[in-house]
Amino acid sequence: MPSIHAYAAPSEAAPLARTVIERRDLGLHDVLIDIAFAGICHSDIHTVRGDWGPQQYPLAPGHEIAGVVAAVGAEVTKHGVGDRVGVGCMVNSCGECPSCVRGEEQFCADGAVFTYGSTDRDGTVTQGGYSEKVVVTESFVVRIPDAIPLDAAAPLLCAGITTYSPLRRWKVGPGTRVAVVGLGGLGHMGVQFAHALGAEVTVLSQTLNKKDDGLRLGADHYRATGDPATFKELRGSFDVILNTVSAVVDLRAYLGLLDVGGAMVCVGAPGEPLSLGVMSLIGGNKTLAGSNIGGIRETQEMLDFCAEHGILPGIEVIPASAINDAYERVLASDVRYRFVIDASTFAA
Ligand code: NAP
Ligand code: ZN
Repeated sequence: MPSIHAYAAPSEAAPLARTVIERRDLGLHDVLIDIAFAGICHSDIHTVRGDWGPQQYPLAPGHEIAGVVAAVGAEVTKHGVGDRVGVGCMVNSCGECPSCVRGEEQFCADGAVFTYGSTDRDGTVTQGGYSEKVVVTESFVVRIPDAIPLDAAAPLLCAGITTYSPLRRWKVGPGTRVAVVGLGGLGHMGVQFAHALGAEVTVLSQTLNKKDDGLRLGADHYRATGDPATFKELRGSFDVILNTVSAVVDLRAYLGLLDVGGAMVCVGAPGEPLSLGVMSLIGGNKTLAGSNIGGIRETQEMLDFCAEHGILPGIEVIPASAINDAYERVLASDVRYRFVIDASTFAA
């Protein structure tokens, strides 16, 4: 396949730059996707900057991919040319282990192949969605409902599923008091999902700067974590806390906000450890949990849920040349609420 324009990090410390990458020839079960839009997830930044460990460079990140099928392999049945499709954080798994059979491919016993920076079945390192085209095995390609524009669809492929999945697992619904910590890419989806599921939703953000947005997205309450009164007044008042913060947080303070039997679910994944005095859990039968994206079946369910409930991310579409500036704005919590790269600008 001819070379494909992309944006990649040449090293941990250098800004992303235009480059060309290779994609494999179309296999029997592969789908070739003309990428239209790629979201910028904070995980892209953690990864290319080495927060989660060393990487192989150059590395093109991007695991929020929306586009249109350009060609299909001879045995593809799930998708056809012209279909509007998406690809999230994974591009392959064994398909046979208990996790894969359960629809949790991210926990594949053989190791899921992640969309970038992962060793693929052929031994090459995967390159992500900051590019013009991608080739993905059909079972890891999801259908984007007509009600969702392609630019808005992109962030759903990671920020959407990563917040939808734990809210469903923890059975959030009418009567559940949910706090979403951090109103960024993940957080602003979590607020919309928790609201649509019928929960009473509180945003816990560093400041009140985004309060109007939070309430518009469906929050019932909005409090600043920078104000110590928040932690006093809200003590014991949540059933579920969804922590989407990309930095280290004070677990003790947040666990104090849970009611007896409540759960704090961490999806935010800073490179540094969080510390915990276990009495914070014991004093109230509390649970501290994690959640890792979501499986393919649930990703399709989430997209259909978004179409049904009119849920869309807030996006700012940018050209590829603005990626490095966008990274700095994400790091400064200055994003409302997801940057989405227009893939037609990778070549320009
Ligand atoms: P994001 O858009 O940057 O949002 C993170 C939010 O956290 C910010 O908007 C900010 O919210 C808050 N925040 C940032 N720095 C903070 C600090 N020092 N103290 C307190 N709050 C702070 O990032 P994202 O794309 O939503 O990703 C969030 C995290 O989830 C990242 O660590 C990412 O790697 C991780 N992630 C995990 C999974 C998974 O499967 N578990 C999947 C995707 C992403 P306010 O401005 O409202 O305070
Ligand atoms: Zn992500």
